[in-house]
Amino acid sequence: MHDTSQEGFYFLPLGGADDIGMNIYAYGANDKWIVVDAGYGFLGDDYKGMDMCYISPDFLEKRKENIEGLFITHGHEDHMGAIAHVWDALRCKVYATPFVAELMKERLEEFGLADQAEIEEVAEGSTVQTETFKVEYISLAHSVPESCGLFIQTPHGNIFHATDWRFDDGRLDMIKTDYEALKKIAQKKVTLFVCDSTNIFVDHQEPSEFQIRQNLLKLVPTIKGGLVATCFASNLMRLESFILAADLAGRTPILLGKTLHTNIKLAQKCGYFKDLPMAHLPEAADGITSDKALYICTGSQANYHSALAMIANGENKHVKLGKGDTVLFSSKIIPGNEEKIKRMQEKFIDDGVSVVTEEEQKIHTTGHCSKDELKKMYDIIKPEIVFPVHGDRSFIREHRAFAYSCGISHICSGKNGDLFFVSGERITHVDKVPIDVMGVDHKRSVSLHSEVVKNRVRIAYHCSLFASVVLSKENQVVDLQISSKDILDQADWQILVEKIKPELVEHLNIILKENSLNKHAEELMKSTIRKAVYHQTDTKPVTVMHIYQEQ
Ligand SMILES: [Zn+2]
Ligand SMILES: [Zn+2]
Repeated sequence: MHDTSQEGFYFLPLGGADDIGMNIYAYGANDKWIVVDAGYGFLGDDYKGMDMCYISPDFLEKRKENIEGLFITHGHEDHMGAIAHVWDALRCKVYATPFVAELMKERLEEFGLADQAEIEEVAEGSTVQTETFKVEYISLAHSVPESCGLFIQTPHGNIFHATDWRFDDGRLDMIKTDYEALKKIAQKKVTLFVCDSTNIFVDHQEPSEFQIRQNLLKLVPTIKGGLVATCFASNLMRLESFILAADLAGRTPILLGKTLHTNIKLAQKCGYFKDLPMAHLPEAADGITSDKALYICTGSQANYHSALAMIANGENKHVKLGKGDTVLFSSKIIPGNEEKIKRMQEKFIDDGVSVVTEEEQKIHTTGHCSKDELKKMYDIIKPEIVFPVHGDRSFIREHRAFAYSCGISHICSGKNGDLFFVSGERITHVDKVPIDVMGVDHKRSVSLHSEVVKNRVRIAYHCSLFASVVLSKENQVVDLQISSKDILDQADWQILVEKIKPELVEHLNIILKENSLNKHAEELMKSTIRKAVYHQTDTKPVTVMHIYQEQ
């Protein structure tokens, strides 16, 4: 660790520095730390069977005695999804606004941790004082209610941590921007501004959430036939818009997908959705014909078990779509999910279903700031140093260039695990913390660098092969079985095995004659079998071999 006699504070973006997702940041001063966010990242198709990942909290675990709190900015999976995975490493108090706290309690409950973690609800606009840090929750507009930027005061300088925000027209109650608080933090001086880069390639502010509501209220009543709509389950404003649009169109809103039910239940607990026509469970909607329903469902990102993926595959028992029906995608594509979503949309189109996305109709807007809005924020809070995060490298580069063009003189960025020291107006890279990324494999976690995961990827590309060799006491092959489920279909596989087996047995016997039965001989036998399959199929399968010797 960097040793300094200078006064200052540390900034460590463990995740989120050079990608969108896996957000987890640490701030340190006087040997004490606080952590901001604990989010999931989204895995592409390379990691079969795993959708999510997160940054291993090793660095923090080693300092758990000195962690004064985990502060969650908002209720998106990329900021709070991994709470159950990092909780044991941190074991500190967790702070969040009420709706976000409810979402986290639900997640912890799933993992049997509900009664262990201490979650303290923080009202928007209020401040948490720990031993070393003062953290103020400042309302910022985003695509989930109760999102906040954090104004963090350390004994040696102040930070405004604002990942995921935009300016909105403020016409919907659930999203607000506290301009007064932003002006006040400028007076207290923002040394370091850690900021969202998601929409840095967008020049101008996108339509407000209110405008999208108006568009949906106009569009939905014009649609005939079966109608399914999908959006992010945490976007309560959008869910409310769908329920209102359904009501206007004489359709009954019916919710599909566990997350939606949970989120609406939690939202009601927090005082939202009070005066709305009730959204129904599918079972309660029996007898309502599909042209009189608006099915609102999860699955805009085409996750394998989502309600929408089941509908696309014809596997949902409540909803069958065909010619003349419509699916509204009131959502954007999270990078990495492009292929999955395209495949799902094509399935609908093949079945004669109209697919409406934000490309055709303005039925989605962003929760992130454009260049215009960034400039406005710089003007309000007047930061000394801008540190762009929440974007991949090209986004960070663009954000740096933009900040520079706006007259910001100190701009810094880094990779996950880079440790920075901020003293006065100077930010210095002082160390590199090793980073491991964990894949979420059902309820287990597994390092993406582990042999298990490497083998899964290898098997996905190169198939698998199992060989069982039975040897006599004299080390001669008595039986050889070779099987595979993913190289050829079973009939062709049997023909191949019959063809290569006699010669293979001969080769194995030669190896056994020239070597005693040891690791080296076993490796030779395995590679001989693998090569024989490769010569016939051009496939280099991951090979597992078992040897049995007669007693
Ligand atoms: Zn985010
Ligand atoms: Zn977000």
